[in-house]
Parts: sequence; C-alpha cells; structure tokens
Amino acid sequence: MSDISDLYVLKNAIRNIPDFPDKGIQFKDITTAIKKPEMLSLIVDRISGHFRDRKVTKVVAVEARGFITGGALAYKLGAGFVPVRKPGKLPAQTFSQTYELEYGTDTLEIHKDALSSEDVVLLHDDLLATGGTALAVIELIKLFYVKTIYINFIIELGFLKGKERLSPPYDLYSLIQF
Ligand code: AMP
Repeated sequence: MSDISDLYVLKNAIRNIPDFPDKGIQFKDITTAIKKPEMLSLIVDRISGHFRDRKVTKVVAVEARGFITGGALAYKLGAGFVPVRKPGKLPAQTFSQTYELEYGTDTLEIHKDALSSEDVVLLHDDLLATGGTALAVIELIKLFYVKTIYINFIIELGFLKGKERLSPPYDLYSLIQF
C-alpha cells in the first residue's frame, strides 16, 4: 500500500463517538485502530521513522492514551520513556503545571529527576485538540532546559487550531488530521 492509502485506512479505523464525554465533542476513539496489529505497527513505525535521525533521548508521553504508543515509540527510537501524569500518581518529587480547560482547570506532573539539559525530547500524545495539554507539558519540559523539544500526535483536530498555540518554534508532526 502507498503511504497515503495506508493512512487513509488508519483514519477509517478510528471510531468517532459523538457527544462523548460531553455534548458537542466528537471523541476520536483510537482503540478500534490499535487493536489491529497492522494499525499499531503503522502508527509506531511511521512516527518513529519521521523522528529517526533526530537523536531523541527521551519520549515524554501524557497519561493515559499517550502511554500506549509512547512506550513503543521510545523503544523504536532507542530513547528512554518519561511519564507525565495526573496529580498524586507519580511517587517521587514532582514539578506540576496547572492549565485551563473549557470548564475549570487540570494539573499534570513530571518527576523532578525525569530529564536533564542533555536531553532531546519527543513530546507524544494521542491527540491535539486546543493545545492546552501540550502547552502545559511543554512548560514542564522547559523547566529542565533540554536541548530540543519535538512534538508529535497521532491525530490533530486541525479546526481547533491547537498548532497555532504551540508553534513556532516547535517542530510538530501529526500522523493524521481531521
Ligand atoms: P487539548 O488540551 O484540548 O489539546 O486536548 C488534548 C487532550 O485531550 C489529549 O490528551 C486527548 O487525549 C484529549 N482529547 C481532547 N479532545 C479529544 C477528542 N475529540 N477525542 C479524543 N481525545 C480528545
């Protein structure tokens, strides 16, 4: 299959759930895609292929769906894996970042010894919507003065223009767009 047609198959394998978890949200459910071995390997191979020559040392992934593919990506890139989690989940000392949601706020945490100024980081999550989550994680990563931050999503909801909140100067790659 060509590069474009297999991404078309992947796009069709992602299930859309209207009004989940709230009215008006079109939830992109990746479970229908990643349960298929060929779709899981397509996601991981294509993203790791894109970043192959960037000398990534750590994949920083966001709880919970970012963990599914983040671990496989780190393995393929020969990088380490760093979890960003909801408050109270990480056992050692953490930095935390609170960010605005449509209604209210949320907080994410990273271990204080997770990264160093020697790291080249790939921030990975399943989906970019408004960009609020990614922006919060970028703020956490910046605390470590890492060498470079690359950003990747499996899915980008282009109409929400989250990318405009994140770039420039970030090098951002999303596998498929809705
Ligand atoms: P945002 O901070 O608005 O960019 O939202 C991104 C985070 O919320 C990601 O961790 C996604 O998993 C989740 N998310 C937001 N909108 C959706 C959606 N329509 N379908 C699936 N996940 C979503």
